[in-house]
Amino acid sequence: MQPAHDVVIIGSGINGLSAAALLAVSGKKVLVLESNNSPGGAIRTEQITAPGFHHDLFAMNLGLFAGGAVMAKLGGELSARGFNLVPSTKPFCSVFPDGTMIGVEADPAATVKNLAAIAPADVAAWEALTAKLGAWAPFLIGVLNADLPSVDAFKTLWKAQRALGTVGLYEMTKLALQSTRSFTDENFVSPKTKALMATWGMHLDFAPDIAGGALFSFLETIGGQLFGMVIGEGGAAKLVTALVGVIEANGGEVRCDSRVTQITVDKKRATGVTLASGDSIRAQRAVVSNVNPRLMPALLPDHVASEPSVKRVENFQSGLATMMIHLALSDLPPWTAREAREYNYVHIGPYLADMAQTYTDAAAGLLPESPTLVIGQPTVSDPSRAPEGKHVLWVQVRMLPLKLADGSSWDAVAEEYADLVMQKIETYAPGLAQLVIARAVLSPADLERYNANLINGDSLGGSHHPSQFFFLRPVPGWGRHRSPVKDLFLCGAGTWPGGGVSGASGAMVAKILT
Ligand SMILES: Cc1cc2nc3c(=O)[nH]c(=O)nc-3n(C[C@H](O)[C@H](O)[C@H](O)COP(=O)(O)OP(=O)(O)OC[C@H]3O[C@@H](n4cnc5c(N)ncnc54)[C@H](O)[C@@H]3O)c2cc1C
Repeated sequence: MQPAHDVVIIGSGINGLSAAALLAVSGKKVLVLESNNSPGGAIRTEQITAPGFHHDLFAMNLGLFAGGAVMAKLGGELSARGFNLVPSTKPFCSVFPDGTMIGVEADPAATVKNLAAIAPADVAAWEALTAKLGAWAPFLIGVLNADLPSVDAFKTLWKAQRALGTVGLYEMTKLALQSTRSFTDENFVSPKTKALMATWGMHLDFAPDIAGGALFSFLETIGGQLFGMVIGEGGAAKLVTALVGVIEANGGEVRCDSRVTQITVDKKRATGVTLASGDSIRAQRAVVSNVNPRLMPALLPDHVASEPSVKRVENFQSGLATMMIHLALSDLPPWTAREAREYNYVHIGPYLADMAQTYTDAAAGLLPESPTLVIGQPTVSDPSRAPEGKHVLWVQVRMLPLKLADGSSWDAVAEEYADLVMQKIETYAPGLAQLVIARAVLSPADLERYNANLINGDSLGGSHHPSQFFFLRPVPGWGRHRSPVKDLFLCGAGTWPGGGVSGASGAMVAKILT
């Protein structure tokens, strides 16, 4: 038995590390246990293709973290440890098969100019939505940063009612339940403007017809314009290194190669953990799990795991799968829509019909013919990630089957499918193939190998559909970052407010325990 810590945290994802850093700063003795050989979970930067090319293997866009509670509290400490944000004035664009594009810039006037060139009839609606987000943002951000349900969240909604009126509050509620197709049909005329918004829903698991998708499509599209997009200078892993630095400087520890195999439960209370090595570690105050909730019963003693209140979490559903293709390039892609070279993200839907079909195919276990592509060009704003004049490309393939219906394995089909994706990009950027110096493909199976939380390659750590979102995340009885076991708390993408590099759920747990 090793010496006791106040709080033992299982998993060093952004939320485990955020909770640990905030608790350590507040004087708690924390220990983070990570099964991998390095911390960070879905944040990892590696020279995976060729020397000198630094790829964010998973998350790249740090906008959620930049605007979140952890950055607000620890920003100074993190930057003192080498974590710097690189903003983009041109966050994202969508390119279309006819060679046109719509670019969203951090300057709303510039965006309107871009939109007017392609979809003039949508300009007035775009401006109205921009004004609406300006008015709604304090309340939406307030709810996203509050535990649910909580007094803080109710206070925020009450303030929203006073500021926006009952109809305004109901409009916000409608947005949270509406599909992207219904929302974009209400607001826009051009299929291109609709697609510009709908691709953001596809980042999560919101195909155009899934209820609840409008909230994400609206927030990310209009928010991208109002708040811009940021990446980490030199790679997202700098954030991980800086958070570990804060934890260690405040007396905490992050221990890698330390897989937790069981949470000790004494008299219905979590009291510590056992590692794969056989070592036992005591937690005086609490155990915090940064593990996908669906994997939790396997970590609990049988007599606890078999209780209905605990077993219920096995119903927590995954979103669909993701594949990553990383490229080392001798130049940026030769986009037909030439200005796309200036943007951090290039989206290829291209249209709502393609996205809807892609989702249906993937859910049925079939390989989509026209997957939605999120193409990250980080070297546009951070040239330090590649040798001079060269570039890295971050290609996220959305959405794919968790399991293939014909029984074949992802290991068998990944490279061939990546070829199809490359051919698709080539039709928008003819000549790309000649610029590729090296390529690395991470299939959904690889994603799970890197991080057990990404079950079957679900990059979201659990679907965000309304039945398991807001106060229902992950499942009834496991909300507010509590589990049915006393002093066993949860943070991470599988808990409110969901996936993404925000650290919000870690901050919420730290608040409970401080
Ligand atoms: C390919 C991809 C691209 C993404 N892109 C973006 C993006 O650009 N922007 C964005 O905001 N979000 C993005 N996301 C989502 C975001 O990265 C994740 O939602 C977020 O990082 C998850 O954080 P987490 O706190 O849930 O922990 P995770 O990152 O899931 O980490 C959990 C850690 O716990 C460890 N662990 C699990 N079980 C045990 C155990 N038994 N014992 C010890 N350790 C254990 C795991 O090894 C892992 O390191 C992306 C995700 C993926 C996969």
